[in-house]
Amino acid sequence: MSGQDTSPPRTVACPQCGAPVVWDAAAKFRPFCSERCKLIDLGAWASEAYRIPVTDEPAGEPTGADPAAVVQAKGLAQVSDPEAVRAACEAAIAAEPAAAAALKAGNEKAGGRVVGHAMKALKGKGDPTLVQRTLRQLLGLPG
Ligand SMILES: [Zn+2]
Repeated sequence: MSGQDTSPPRTVACPQCGAPVVWDAAAKFRPFCSERCKLIDLGAWASEAYRIPVTDEPAGEPTGADPAAVVQAKGLAQVSDPEAVRAACEAAIAAEPAAAAALKAGNEKAGGRVVGHAMKALKGKGDPTLVQRTLRQLLGLPG
């Protein structure tokens, strides 16, 4: 008795219609169940691609917008205005006096609270390096 020498065929669901497709060499349209489903899927991709706007940049012209302007427009700009950062840092020190004192005493971990407060005041867009440097300056810490 050696009946079980073949494992059951592996089947996958056709991505288009969900019909089970036996995954073997004979299933020439796999993972699709039929040529029809495969073509429908390709058609979907084609129409998707068609919707992507294609911009024709004239040859020799500078391409694309100023990256800084794009970042600004998308609201991704970092606040690196020293005045704004300084104001946020001063507010953070005032709001977190204990953490600020701990940072001043050398507790870098406590400084995270102050930095976090300043970053929040800057809506998370503060330049982290500038925020840290400004905080340290305000607290009279080296660099
Ligand atoms: Zn199908």
